[in-house]
Amino acid sequence: MKLNLGVDIGGTKIHFATVHFTEKPEVVSEFRIATPKSPSYSDFVNILVDNLKELIAKSKGEVSSVGIGIPGIVVVHNNPAIVSISRLDYLVGQDIERDLSSKLNLPVYIENDTRLFTLAEATYGAGKGIQSVFGVILGTGIGGGLTYSQDLISSQNGAFLEWGHLEAEPGGEQCHCGSRGCYKTVISGPALENYYFEKTGQVLPLVEISKLAENNKDPNASETMSRFITFLVGGLKSAITIIDPDIVVIGGGLSNIEVIYTQAIPALRKSLPLSKSSIVISRSTLGDSAGAIGAALLAKRKF
Ligand SMILES: [Zn+2]
Repeated sequence: MKLNLGVDIGGTKIHFATVHFTEKPEVVSEFRIATPKSPSYSDFVNILVDNLKELIAKSKGEVSSVGIGIPGIVVVHNNPAIVSISRLDYLVGQDIERDLSSKLNLPVYIENDTRLFTLAEATYGAGKGIQSVFGVILGTGIGGGLTYSQDLISSQNGAFLEWGHLEAEPGGEQCHCGSRGCYKTVISGPALENYYFEKTGQVLPLVEISKLAENNKDPNASETMSRFITFLVGGLKSAITIIDPDIVVIGGGLSNIEVIYTQAIPALRKSLPLSKSSIVISRSTLGDSAGAIGAALLAKRKF
C-alpha cells in the first residue's frame, strides 16, 4: 500500500497524518502535538523528525513522500523553497525540505497551509469538481488559497491571496508582516480574544466568547462578535470581488462558530455585487484533517 505523510503546522497544534489515496483520501493513522513555544530551528526539525519517524513506524505500507503545510509566506518558486514571513519566525529562511529529507531519507515538500487546505477541499471536499475554489482559513491566522481545475495557483513571491494582510483598520495593531491594522490583527482568534480581554480582563477562547454573545448575555462578548462579523464581511468582500471564485470553502479553528453562517455570510451576500449573490459559500467537508490531507496530496503529486 502506497502512503504519503501530511503534516499541518498550526499556531497551537501540529497534525501528523498518514494518508492512503484511492477514490478518497483515507487517513490511516494520525496524531496531534502542541506546537512548541519558541524552539530553535534545529530543535523544531528534531521534533518533526521524531514524530514523523513514529508515524512511519505505525504505517503499514510503503511511505513515499512527506508534505508539510506552514502558516506564513512560503516561496515555492525559490530554490530551495523557503518561508519568507511567518509568525513561526524560527522557520524563516531555512532549507526545511533539505534538512528534513536528509534525516528521513524521504522527499519532503513544503507549502503554505491554507493553499494545502484549498487543494484538499478542491480535490476531495466541498470544492470537488468545481473549477475555481477559494479556500479561507479562519484561526490563529487568516489565510487564503485558490485552485483552478484542482491546480494550486501561486506567485513568485509566495504571497498570492494573502487577504489577511489587507488593511482593515488604518494605523491599527502592528502585524508580523510589517504593516499595521491587517485583517489578521482584527479577526484572528488571538486578536479577538485580546479585544475581549481588554474589555473584561478575562482570557477566553473565541468559541466561548461566541456562546456568551448568544441572546446578548454578555454585551462585551456581543461587541466582540459583532466586530468579528463586520470585519470578516469586509475582508471576504474584497477578496471575492477581486478573484470571483465559483465557491468559497471555509475552514480553520474558528470555522465552527455559528455566527459565520447565520450572520456573516448572509451579510456578505447582500454586500456583494448582484452577479456574485449566488456564489456558493460552504464549510470545509474534510474538517480538521483537510490541512494534513492537502499536505500529503502535495507530496503525492510531487513524487
Ligand atoms: Zn499583516
